[in-house]
Amino acid sequence: METSEEETIVDVLSEFKTKIRNKMILENTYEELIELLNQIDKCVQKLCIHDIVEDWIDITPERSGRIFYCNKCYKTIEFE
Ligand SMILES: [Zn+2]
Repeated sequence: METSEEETIVDVLSEFKTKIRNKMILENTYEELIELLNQIDKCVQKLCIHDIVEDWIDITPERSGRIFYCNKCYKTIEFE
């Protein structure tokens, strides 16, 4: 299967994000890095060819709510 340019960019950015996040746990958290990660998140969510999955989350012990999110970039999709 051929990988589109967008998918490649999303993969690279996602990997970069994971590396930065792991590093942030070990070292001080820099404001600039958080800003950068937010920018990358926006970029990934814009380029991602969303793979929407359905999930149920517990709102209270008696009630569950249905949510939809992307399996690749973890963006929550709102349908309302
Ligand atoms: Zn996505």
